[in-house]
Amino acid sequence: MALQPIDHFCETLDPHVKKAITAASVGSTNAQKAILERDYPGDKTDHLRSLANAIKGGDLAGNLEKAVASLERNGITVLFAKDGAEARDIIYNIIKEREAKNVVKIKSMTTEEIELNHFLQEKGMDVVETDLGELIIQIENEKPSHIVKPAIHRTRGDIAESFVKHNIAEKYDDNPNHLTLAARKYLREKYFAADVVVSGANYVLAEEGAIVLCTNEGNSRFSMAGAKTHIALVGFEKVIPSAKELAVFLNLLARSATGQTSTAYTDFVAGPGKSKNSPKEMFLVFLDNGRSDILASESAEILKCIRCGACMNRCPVFRLVGGHAYRATYPGPLGIVLSPLLAGDKLATLADLPKACSLCGACGEVCPAKIPLPDLILKNRDKVKKQHIHVPNDINFWPFKLLATTPWMWKSAMAMSKAANFLPLSWIKFGPAGRWFKSRTIPRINGGNFRNWFKKNG
Ligand code: SF4
Repeated sequence: MALQPIDHFCETLDPHVKKAITAASVGSTNAQKAILERDYPGDKTDHLRSLANAIKGGDLAGNLEKAVASLERNGITVLFAKDGAEARDIIYNIIKEREAKNVVKIKSMTTEEIELNHFLQEKGMDVVETDLGELIIQIENEKPSHIVKPAIHRTRGDIAESFVKHNIAEKYDDNPNHLTLAARKYLREKYFAADVVVSGANYVLAEEGAIVLCTNEGNSRFSMAGAKTHIALVGFEKVIPSAKELAVFLNLLARSATGQTSTAYTDFVAGPGKSKNSPKEMFLVFLDNGRSDILASESAEILKCIRCGACMNRCPVFRLVGGHAYRATYPGPLGIVLSPLLAGDKLATLADLPKACSLCGACGEVCPAKIPLPDLILKNRDKVKKQHIHVPNDINFWPFKLLATTPWMWKSAMAMSKAANFLPLSWIKFGPAGRWFKSRTIPRINGGNFRNWFKKNG
């Protein structure tokens, strides 16, 4: 029996990377819990989560229509892309028409989803990530391993080495302040040279016709101050009715993501040329890429995600393996729901992901948008099963089903179960059973007492 890809990834993962991921995830979960308990005690947090869920469950089509009219009224050109290829072409053509070459990026998982950087670089453009975490992974040609903390798997030492290797720092120095200063100096040059800034958006305000960017490093403002053209790529599910509803999300996002009261910078971009230095033209590309199909499916709730990362921080599987194990842009509980859905007819390539879950339910408890993640994970498992997709490590349960549904067999097995106490299970070293017993011991079986108890007391 082959290992599941995530199992295999976990077995081969460098212990120091594993340690870094676990420490960062546990830290974020503890910070989220502490700040929500402090600021929204009792059932206030739950109330806020219900509000977020209800707002996101509103009239998305109506809000989108309203958003397009408001954005265009504010001078923003609105475009639609049905998939990643179309979005890449639209963005590339805008840049090419302006004979531009230097692109600065504000962290955006949607652009990761369509693999924009490589596409533009292959066309000869200089594309630089300006978020520190994104820059750290970009120079090593890696993908993010977390949606909020893309470099969660890298230690200070790794980053210091990497900065020397890529001429961002002159000599090895793993002091976090010095690393940040080196990156800052490197990025300043890029801001001055930038022709185009590419961003995502945390929210699109339908009534006001603005996008909202939540960042912590000020890189969004530097990027927009330098470039003449701004292109925002946004999944259409990011549209919310107005700035009034935004308050609910701003109160939840940073607290759930990093345990902060709010992100250090919240930019409202309501069109080009609003100040002397801001870009003179702005495009907003709404991306579908499978979202319409998800919206029409029984898993539509996943589109309520606000990309806080709390579910992955809390997930016992993610804490051991990190995001790269999921082989997709979105990892953790969010990813094992969303990534197979976005894969469309390539579901088989990610069909093992819904199995990378112990169904402990912790992700559903921490999700600020109150998305029923465990239910959606089960729906994906069901989908895989119904499409008869073979998943490595699929266990055939028919013997257990026969045993559990045939009373005489079950009673005989229970009567004999105590014999298992004398089996030398720890001697099994190979195969799936060997892997299982390597880290687990079976409790002593006393056998049959519950039935006797239930007869007397039930
Ligand atoms: S599914 Fe919920 S917890 Fe996970 S990233 Fe999205 S909003 Fe955050």
